[in-house]
Amino acid sequence: MIRLTVPALDESEVQAVREVLLSGYLVQGGKVADFERVVAGYIGTKQGVAVANCTAALHLALLALGVGRGDRVAVTAYSWPATANVIVLCGAEPVFVDIDRVTFNMDPDELDRVLRRVHVKAVLPVHAFGGMADMPRIIAIAAEHGVPVVEDAACALGAEMLGRKAGTWGAIGCFSFHPRKAITTGEGGMITTDDLPLANACRALRNHGLDPECAAPDFIIPGFNLRLTEFQAAIGLIQMDKMPALATSRQCEAQIYDRLLADSEIQQPSVLAGATHVYQSYVVQLPPAVSARRGEIIKRLKERGVETTIGTYHMPATTYFRQQGYYRPGAFPATDDVSARALSLPVFFGMTMEQQQVVVTELMDAM
Ligand SMILES: *Cc1c(COP(=O)(O)O)cnc(C)c1O
Repeated sequence: MIRLTVPALDESEVQAVREVLLSGYLVQGGKVADFERVVAGYIGTKQGVAVANCTAALHLALLALGVGRGDRVAVTAYSWPATANVIVLCGAEPVFVDIDRVTFNMDPDELDRVLRRVHVKAVLPVHAFGGMADMPRIIAIAAEHGVPVVEDAACALGAEMLGRKAGTWGAIGCFSFHPRKAITTGEGGMITTDDLPLANACRALRNHGLDPECAAPDFIIPGFNLRLTEFQAAIGLIQMDKMPALATSRQCEAQIYDRLLADSEIQQPSVLAGATHVYQSYVVQLPPAVSARRGEIIKRLKERGVETTIGTYHMPATTYFRQQGYYRPGAFPATDDVSARALSLPVFFGMTMEQQQVVVTELMDAM
């Protein structure tokens, strides 16, 4: 089976975990602090706050910005449901913004229309599949309304635009280290920001409300326990060493797919001018005439030894949000179209050109 993705782990991670386990310090030691420094340094922010996963990162980011009952948050319509769930978990309401058909990311023109109509407490764009959202425009529009931006950069570690990395554009950036993402710690997440008070609010929220600045332990808010473990951070440090090679490998594979698909009716992923894509997933658009058979195509490919999947989710159209009245036919034409046609192809470190050729040949055949 040509897997959708395979995490790039070897003896070096095993050794790192072994050392931590035998050290007797499993939580809140030096590895987490090192991992925070390394990720923040790589991204280019002053602060990094490691947490249990990216869902926790997004949740704490919104809480740190004061998002709560009665607030609204503008969020892209096309993402993993965690992106919108955390808004609801803060007691606030999502205002879904349709996407741009080319980048699969929040459409700045739609955001502009939404912000003229409703007051929001924050704007939450996603860098879908490792491709940058149009951050210069999104930041400018949010700033016009005095609203902070939280970037869901779960898939976008290393992606950049105009020389600035994903996770440094907004007030806060959030990353995931799930096995399907750029680097993995099993489960894991990181909050990045230049703002020390925001970082400290997140540090308190992830650790029972403990004041991160006070020498004598004191609890300043009712917090969660959403900490990362030492052995996960040890894996993360090794993965960060590999990060440039992992990103380059996926970018080369994307170029090869681009070439193999150039003469087909399949639409390849696009990158905004001035941006780099890290291809957490290589997501194509099937021709409209074929999209109704997408489920069948995925099944057929699996039978032929090629694992594929849909892109991601039309969040307002999922059962919970639809039942709450967030889906209105015709309100999200681009998300309707993209979510029906998107297909994610295998891409991982060490994938061979022969494997890519098999994927494309089988896909053509299955269509
Ligand atoms: C994976 C993902 C998340 C959730 O990350 P976890 O670490 O699994 O909690 C959130 N948003 C997007 C866009 C994702 O791809």
